Amino acid sequence: MTFASLPLSPQLVRAVEERNYTAPTAIQSAVIPGVLNGRDVWACAHTGSGKTAAFALPLLHRHLATQRETPRRIRSLILVPTRELAAQIGASIESYARYLPDAVKVAVVFGGVSINPQMMALRGGADMVVATPGRLLDLVEHNALSLQSVTTLVLDEADRLLDLGFTVELAQVLSLLPERRQNLLFSATFPPAVNELAEKLLHDPLRVDV
Ligand code: AMP
Repeated sequence: MTFASLPLSPQLVRAVEERNYTAPTAIQSAVIPGVLNGRDVWACAHTGSGKTAAFALPLLHRHLATQRETPRRIRSLILVPTRELAAQIGASIESYARYLPDAVKVAVVFGGVSINPQMMALRGGADMVVATPGRLLDLVEHNALSLQSVTTLVLDEADRLLDLGFTVELAQVLSLLPERRQNLLFSATFPPAVNELAEKLLHDPLRVDV
């Protein structure tokens, strides 16, 4: 399979080809069409599997294909356990989106740093937000963002999200999201707590194990 054979916009294909991605990884081949078709996804995925592009490319494609509102309203929310992962995913998304001028605005928010620059960055809205749970809730409390327009939720490294004790924050975030939405869950391991979360969250998911 090639990236060009996936139903992704040429600008996205060009961006990944320039990063020397010659062919989609196994998880990308399985997940990208599923996400584009609106499916929920339950994926067992390790770092290095290419999971970031597996969710980011179809989400970017959809942002491109649908009319955005002014001001921008958050459509994709990507929850991650650590600031390092948030920054890394944000940088990857920016690079995949480099030929989508002005089409998609990505905000990356995490704790451990001053909240003010993140509040400034969110003025005018964002289409995609990559966030650690605690800081996301702080920003909601400051009215710096609203989660009511989210259509797709991604939980990345769900096992670490639960390991790091984000259970309460996660439940709070879920309570702020519209009930009707697409959910994508990625995890390297599936201990009982992650399985329970997946069962609660996912509707008829596409199961991918690579
Ligand atoms: P991830 O699992 O998303 O953290 O990606 C691991 C690494 O693989 C990152 O450096 C990506 O840039 C790279 N990568 C992702 N997809 C591909 C691909 N299809 N071909 C080559 N490298 C890739």
